[in-house]
Amino acid sequence: MTNQMIKNNLTADCESCFGLCCVALPYAKSADFPVDKDIGSPCRNLQEDFRCGIHKQLRKKGYKGCTVYECFGAGQKVSQITYNGLDWRKQPDKAKEMFDVFPIMQQLHEMLCYLKEAQTLEEAIPLQLKLQDIYVKIEQLTYLEAADILTLDIPAYRVVVNELLLQTSELVRSNVRSTKKTNGKNLLGAKLRRADLKGSDFRGALLIAADLREADLRVCDFIGADMRDANLSGANLEGSFFLTQAQINSSKGNDETKLPYTLKRPKHW
Ligand code: SF4
Repeated sequence: MTNQMIKNNLTADCESCFGLCCVALPYAKSADFPVDKDIGSPCRNLQEDFRCGIHKQLRKKGYKGCTVYECFGAGQKVSQITYNGLDWRKQPDKAKEMFDVFPIMQQLHEMLCYLKEAQTLEEAIPLQLKLQDIYVKIEQLTYLEAADILTLDIPAYRVVVNELLLQTSELVRSNVRSTKKTNGKNLLGAKLRRADLKGSDFRGALLIAADLREADLRVCDFIGADMRDANLSGANLEGSFFLTQAQINSSKGNDETKLPYTLKRPKHW
């Protein structure tokens, strides 16, 4: 991938990254990981070439958490743009700084990803100028020097972005009618099979292990929803937005599940 492509890419390109998520981030022994790992220590499965040694067996080996992580292209941006292609093994004196920059870049890229999607939604046309304006500002931050990235007030940017995304969501969902439309946040294990939930607001909702089989989930806002093991078999999610591949990867589904056209059907479904 060329640097120009890396600059514009908001999805992970592991080939252009120095395995940053596998080093910089910690994980804890749980249903998602079989062992503990500290911040800044390389995962035992990370190879010398920065590839994962068990990539095709992650779920089988107990590393389910790796299959649901999304860096939104931050890994290759930090590796190839912020640090000009010099990896943490070749410049160990920069390693800690690089690992600190990575999660900040991940948050910037996540915001860019949602803002970019918001600009594609027809109903959000009245917000286009504001969405473009903040997109450009956030994108500029991703090209700062590492030392400047470390000083960014990310929560303050999140407040501004979040307000615009909320307004976008309202515009997109306001005219959608359905019998069970909800903005419920605690839907852990909820029995919602075949429910007509069109236009619902699932922002930050706990949908863990919810039964959503054959549910109508069109035009719903899924930003930040925890969808681990939610059953989407036969459900229709077409037109839903702020839904990421990582969220879909963490859920269950089947060949009958209808997804927004930007998302891929996970191999484990
Ligand atoms: S198991 Fe593979 S993908 Fe997961 S952290 Fe380790 S090297 Fe990275």
